[in-house]
Amino acid sequence: MEIIVMGCGTSQGVPLVAHDNPGIDLKDGRNWRSRTSIHVVIEGHHVQVDAAPEFRMQCLKNDIQAVDTFILTHGHADHVLGMDDLRQFCTNKGGEPIPVFTTPIGMERVRAIYPYAIGRPASSGYVALALNLMPRRLVLPGGGILSSTILPHGHESTLGLVFEEPSTGAKFTYYTDCKSVPPEAVELGKNADLAILDGLRPNYHPTHMSIDEACAVSVELGAKRSLITHMTYQIDYAIYTEKLRSTFPKVGLCYDGLRITLE
Ligand SMILES: [Zn+2]
Ligand SMILES: [Zn+2]
Repeated sequence: MEIIVMGCGTSQGVPLVAHDNPGIDLKDGRNWRSRTSIHVVIEGHHVQVDAAPEFRMQCLKNDIQAVDTFILTHGHADHVLGMDDLRQFCTNKGGEPIPVFTTPIGMERVRAIYPYAIGRPASSGYVALALNLMPRRLVLPGGGILSSTILPHGHESTLGLVFEEPSTGAKFTYYTDCKSVPPEAVELGKNADLAILDGLRPNYHPTHMSIDEACAVSVELGAKRSLITHMTYQIDYAIYTEKLRSTFPKVGLCYDGLRITLE
């Protein structure tokens, strides 16, 4: 299984616009964060999780050549607003709609923003989306297994995702945009080879986990390695990587363009 971190920034991205972004070294490219999304290749099947406003540039930078299935974790702008740029992936598949799996609110949001793309075949160069509610367990073409669970995220719930690849035995837990990880989600996602977890900033936030909360969840999950995502400008890559090395040695930070192969 291959995981490509296309973006790991909070909803405004990093650095902030019109702000002096104190405490972060902007000469370090790992501190330039586009909005959060990942691409997963599992049993040869390409799963895109969320489409940030920068989705087009993320695809070009990371050489994404296909999207076979699209998962929208929830309907917030930083995850949904790049979906129109799925169009070339439709064209490359002869106009076939891309299967989209999401929450009930995610479905409402997609229908409201992209009414022209729902329930009709794509005409050349346009996007077509086949909207579905995400089931608890989805067997993907090729045999990869994608399980989901619901994570609390303020007014909206987020899909927590667990990928399992039978041919390699690899397991990957992806819990972005959540205030906590309930016991059922711990059970589903535990003992993974890799967990990527929401860890917004050092201090408390009402709808996202802080760095400390993410580290506590990483211990509960028992993943071989955990990485933090959806980070604000308050987290400098080098400083926090060093801090975590002594306190939570199995936890690190994502950066845009990071690629991880699990086998
Ligand atoms: Zn977000
Ligand atoms: Zn969100």
